[in-house]
Parts: sequence; C-alpha cells; structure tokens
Amino acid sequence: MADGSGIEWTEATWNPTTGCDRISPGCDNCYALTLAKRLKAMGNPKYQEDGDPRTSGPGFAITEHPSALDIPRRWASPRVIFVNSMSDLFHARISSSFIREVFQVMEETPRHTYQLLTKRPRRAARMAAELPWPSNVWLGVSVETTDQLWRIDDLRRVPAATRFVSAEPLLGSLACLDLTGMHWLIAGGESGANHRPLDPTWVRELRDSCREQGVAFFFKQWGGRTPKSNGRELDGQLWDEMPVPTQA
Ligand code: SF4
Repeated sequence: MADGSGIEWTEATWNPTTGCDRISPGCDNCYALTLAKRLKAMGNPKYQEDGDPRTSGPGFAITEHPSALDIPRRWASPRVIFVNSMSDLFHARISSSFIREVFQVMEETPRHTYQLLTKRPRRAARMAAELPWPSNVWLGVSVETTDQLWRIDDLRRVPAATRFVSAEPLLGSLACLDLTGMHWLIAGGESGANHRPLDPTWVRELRDSCREQGVAFFFKQWGGRTPKSNGRELDGQLWDEMPVPTQA
C-alpha cells in the first residue's frame, strides 16, 4: 500500500493482501515477486512469509492483512486506487470472507474509484452474486496472448460497471479482439532486464479494435530496460483515453 503511485493511470495503491503465484506467461517477470524479495530483506512485516519456490518466492506467500482494510477510509479526498499491486485478490488461497470485506470497504467509500486487475476472473465470476458491484469498482483482466482470451469471457459474467482489459505485457497479436462488454483497454510493453519485445503491429491492432468497437484505448508504454526507455507515443501521438462507465 502506498499513497502516490508510479502507475500512469492511477493515483494510489492499496494492498489488503500480498503475495501470489505465477500462472501465465505475463507473470514470468513479475515485478511484485521481485519487489517482495527486497521488502522481506528490508524487514517489512507484510513480506515475511515465503511462497512456493516453484511459483512464488521469498516474502511472496499469499497473506491477508486485516489491518490494511481501513486505509481507504482514512483517505478523505477522492483517489483513483489500484487494488493489490502486490497480489491478485481472486487468488484461490484468499478467503471468500476477506474478499467480501475488501468489497465492503470499497462500497462504503464511494468517493474513491477502485481499479482491480486479476488473472483469475473465474473466481470473480463465481463470486459475483455474493459481492456488491458499486459503480466505483472497476474490474479488469490481464490478456497477454490469445491463450488468455477466456479471461474476457469470464469478465463479461461480472456485473462491474466498468470492465477493462490490460494487454500488458503484450506478448503476441490479439488481432480482431472481441471487446463486447468492455469499456477500456490498456496496452503496454514489458520492461526490465529480461523484457520481451513488443511488435508495433500488435499495438495498432488493439488500437484499431478499440476504435471500431467504441472502447477507450490507453497506450501505457513501449517498454525496454526501464518503463520509460522508449516513450509511449504511437504513430506520433499519446493515447490516454479513459472509460465512460455504464450503470451496473
Ligand atoms: S498474477 Fe500478477 S501478481 Fe501474481 S504472479 Fe502473476 S503478475 Fe505477479
């Protein structure tokens, strides 16, 4: 959790849970996993439990933090909050009761806008009927290649007022993507020492799918050794569109 964020499209982060396990190619260079290892070494009390070394790592075991639940209540001014930059709220080992508590906090603080991003939307769809879906809660899914298109199908089953796709790190062509029921798409390349290349054709395909289907398009970065290495212009302009929510 931190107030202030390096993520372009959000203003604060809130981590009521920490830890995760890698489940798809987009996880290969998970920055949260690397950061958790550092935070553990620095003695941060939220990152002392180790996850499975095959899929997780030091300090990155799934952990619920009840003491973090009240943090957004204490932020008096409205913020756009990215939920769980260091975890995935719909991970199988997070209890349903804790997920309900997180949603209760979001429902009770309508001044904030909450952005949840998951690679596990099947659980979100299964739990959808038992969770409130106030209009200030946005839900998105990560899609890196065509192998993850099923996540969009699951997201369509969730009555979030704003549904979005995060194609980051984009690792292959998603040409002719069906964006029915989506309001926003974010695309971006990978950054860091082991970043994988981003083909401009893949980004243009997504931009054009968004324009054809009336979906807001946000291009975050080309990626490279650092997130800012190669800028974020596509065909000479910035793409910073934001979604227009519908009523849930
Ligand atoms: S789902 Fe997200 S937080 Fe979890 S390992 Fe993959 S990239 Fe990291």
